[in-house]
Amino acid sequence: MNINFKDKKALVRVDFNVPLDKTFNITDDTRIREAIPTIKHILEQGGAVILMSHLGRPLEKLNTDGTINRQKFTLQHLVKHLRKKLKVKIQFADDCVGKMAVKKAAALQPGGVLLLENTRFHPEEEQGDAVFAKKLAALGDIYVNDAFGTAHRAHASTTIVAGFFDKNHKTFGFLMEREIENATRAMKNPEKPVTCVTGGSKVSDKIMLLEKFLDYADNILIGGAMAYTFFLAKKGAVGNSLVESDKLKTAKEFLKKAKAAGVKVMLPKDSVCADKFATDAAIQVCPSNQIPEGWMGLDIGPSAAKSFASVIRKSKTVIWNGPMGVFEMPAFAEGTKIVAKACASATKKGAFTMVGGGDSVAAVNQLKLAKKVGFVSTGGGAMLEFMEGKELPGIHAINS
Ligand code: AMP
Repeated sequence: MNINFKDKKALVRVDFNVPLDKTFNITDDTRIREAIPTIKHILEQGGAVILMSHLGRPLEKLNTDGTINRQKFTLQHLVKHLRKKLKVKIQFADDCVGKMAVKKAAALQPGGVLLLENTRFHPEEEQGDAVFAKKLAALGDIYVNDAFGTAHRAHASTTIVAGFFDKNHKTFGFLMEREIENATRAMKNPEKPVTCVTGGSKVSDKIMLLEKFLDYADNILIGGAMAYTFFLAKKGAVGNSLVESDKLKTAKEFLKKAKAAGVKVMLPKDSVCADKFATDAAIQVCPSNQIPEGWMGLDIGPSAAKSFASVIRKSKTVIWNGPMGVFEMPAFAEGTKIVAKACASATKKGAFTMVGGGDSVAAVNQLKLAKKVGFVSTGGGAMLEFMEGKELPGIHAINS
């Protein structure tokens, strides 16, 4: 953040899309904590901060009468917590544009913090509307983007707004800088051996990432439901496991490309199989290509977990995105846990490990291993797209 904020009003796009419980208490404040250093830096330099963010998807979850459920999606829920974290009074504007926002932004003094209401209360936000973005831009002197989680969206407050500031009046916040730095470190000249671990439900979501990994990975480990599409492509029996039958050709071609590129692809030898998708299911461990009819693979098996962990522990760079199984159910969480622990032990031995994607991050947090891996990305989709080699609109808007 190479800008002097003294006596300036910084319009800061943060990702305060935090999970809330039924009575609107914050259940995980990671995203708020991650934004604090940027906010503090601006305040300490003698600037004022105008915070904007979205929270949830208010326009997709309207009240039955078609109005916005303001009570549920208001950023007012965050004020108390933010005050505690920053130890300054937080002013709140109950709209992110309009008279009140303009008045409160204009009256803001150095050291002051103003939180604007949910940007997604306006359809123009997700439409990337320029008139709306211009109104947001008019509130501040400098634009700071610290919302990596939404950097892959060309929304008004994440991308379009930056067009109203010249190069000397817009910048990334510290969190964005760290995200870009770490993802770049993992992709450009990473220390070898490089192991990429993917999981989750769909090949179609991750195939671009898998293809990109072929450029620099030594090993690609594939777990989660994705693996069964590969087994089916290899004519294995996968029972009722979740597969994408229209992606068999994609899977086959990927395996061929990996072979040609000399990249070792590992699929889980065995799976923890269940007779139904439920916590009280009957369970057995089967070879992943011999799953009986009526059974489904819901986690990588113990032998697969052991060999995945062994490859991870021998690596110097590890990039992990996506759970190894249905880790939300304890009976199918073991594979993900073992991978998380292996990432921590590789880190301890000097490897650079990076974890991204909501579910893998949740697993690392659950195991209290977040501080024991190299970097935990706050971006799910954003990290995926960045690592696929795309220039994210939110990043391009600051750089251009
Ligand atoms: P994704 O959003 O594609 O990263 O997928 C994450 C989801 O995949 C999680 O909710 C997991 O429960 C689910 N998942 C992982 N492995 C399996 C599996 N073997 N069968 C069904 N769902 C799975």
